[in-house]
Amino acid sequence: MTQLPRIVIVGAGFAGINAVKTLARCQAQVCLIDCNPYHSFIPLLYQVATGQLHPEQIGYPLGQLAQQYKNLEYRRGRVQGIDLDQKIVELERDAIAYDYLILATGAQAQFLGVSGAENHTFPLKTLEDAIALQQQILGCFTEAALTRNTEHSQHQLSFIIVGGGTTGVEMAGAIADLTENINKKFNTRLSPRIFLIHSQGQLLGEFSSELGEYTCKKLRRLGVKVHLDTKVQRVEDQQVHLDDGTILEGATIIWTAGVEANIPDLNHDFDTSLKGKIQVEPTLQIPGYPHAYAVGDLAYFEQGNRPLPGVAPTALQQGQTAAANIKRHLQGQAPQAFHYEDKGRAAIISRKIGLVQAPNLTLKGWVGWLLWLGIHWCYLPGWRNRLSVLQAWLRHTVFYRPAVLPRLKTISTEVKE
Ligand SMILES: Cc1cc2nc3c(=O)[nH]c(=O)nc-3n(C[C@H](O)[C@H](O)[C@H](O)COP(=O)(O)OP(=O)(O)OC[C@H]3O[C@@H](n4cnc5c(N)ncnc54)[C@H](O)[C@@H]3O)c2cc1C
Repeated sequence: MTQLPRIVIVGAGFAGINAVKTLARCQAQVCLIDCNPYHSFIPLLYQVATGQLHPEQIGYPLGQLAQQYKNLEYRRGRVQGIDLDQKIVELERDAIAYDYLILATGAQAQFLGVSGAENHTFPLKTLEDAIALQQQILGCFTEAALTRNTEHSQHQLSFIIVGGGTTGVEMAGAIADLTENINKKFNTRLSPRIFLIHSQGQLLGEFSSELGEYTCKKLRRLGVKVHLDTKVQRVEDQQVHLDDGTILEGATIIWTAGVEANIPDLNHDFDTSLKGKIQVEPTLQIPGYPHAYAVGDLAYFEQGNRPLPGVAPTALQQGQTAAANIKRHLQGQAPQAFHYEDKGRAAIISRKIGLVQAPNLTLKGWVGWLLWLGIHWCYLPGWRNRLSVLQAWLRHTVFYRPAVLPRLKTISTEVKE
């Protein structure tokens, strides 16, 4: 019996999962490797971090995915390195040989050389990060409600967010929403200080300047203190030093200022360009290794002389193209060049305020918010997750009840001096 060719996909993010779907029913064994037993729906991490959702609502079990596709095997493990010459993927205690490889390990937080940032801030890139942040944020609200020391309470309720891209904006708005939920539910008057620090003159730089200004106005109306054109010089324990000499103090510092490619050790030094990414061929192949593809956040690809954005649609489309090209190899055909179809972008500012900017469409306010919810809901994998997220969104929007709240009632009797 002839052995089927083995395609190894490293990383079960947007790119990896779409590659799996494209390779369903093809004449090959597909092996999907990820260090986690679930796919994380990253755009909703901020909702987990602020208690709007439970972590399991945005994690899709990979074992369940493997049951859907007969030719798919899921292996849990962290890939340490890849020998591109020998075509071997090295795990901690194992090694897997491949005929074709799709490398899709995404990105990790980038601290831009800012001293202290890595040690004293909370990044938001993985589900574990979101869980840690949720515990921190809810813990701070609890502590603030417990104490009679106004200074301590204010310190606990000072949140400093570094980075005014989509994640920073969404976090700032969601902490304001969380405060509203808590005050309504527990009849408190907690009033956090939310700082949003951005190095550019416009929030959400990938959107039009009009939408950037709109976002800034809406956040300021929610009480967020937006600092534009401001760089963080260094971070210390619960302190952020800005380049204009200001020192901000707060119990929670959230880092959303950037990401860089997250690539396991490769036995080859590539000409990695921007943010450590691998500059791929037009077909998404790794230069010099026609059997290996790099896709999603770790691949550098230009279209029309501009690098593609590190967003989910890029990863989804690249995962699909790489898989389709491997199918072409199997049929003896040449791989085809990748072409990105820009479907636009969307962001949420806070409850009932969102933005959508597509090639022929700009929406803001509650219509933009509804469309944002609709798009993300459709892309969320698994019907169980979709139904439970829909229910949570309804509760949050209509009844101001997120999935998780601090347990203020139970502690209201034990007050610290
Ligand atoms: C907080 C946040 C919010 C975002 N919001 C949006 C949004 O609203 N819309 C949008 O379009 N984009 C958004 N993005 C960007 C989007 O999430 C990424 O572009 C997209 O996830 C990239 O997909 P990927 O498949 O390349 O990598 P990822 O989705 O990051 O997946 C990488 C996978 O590889 C696995 N992995 C990593 N290293 C190893 C290893 N060594 N061994 C085994 N497995 C490994 C990880 O566990 C993970 O499952 C957001 C990003 C962040 C951080």
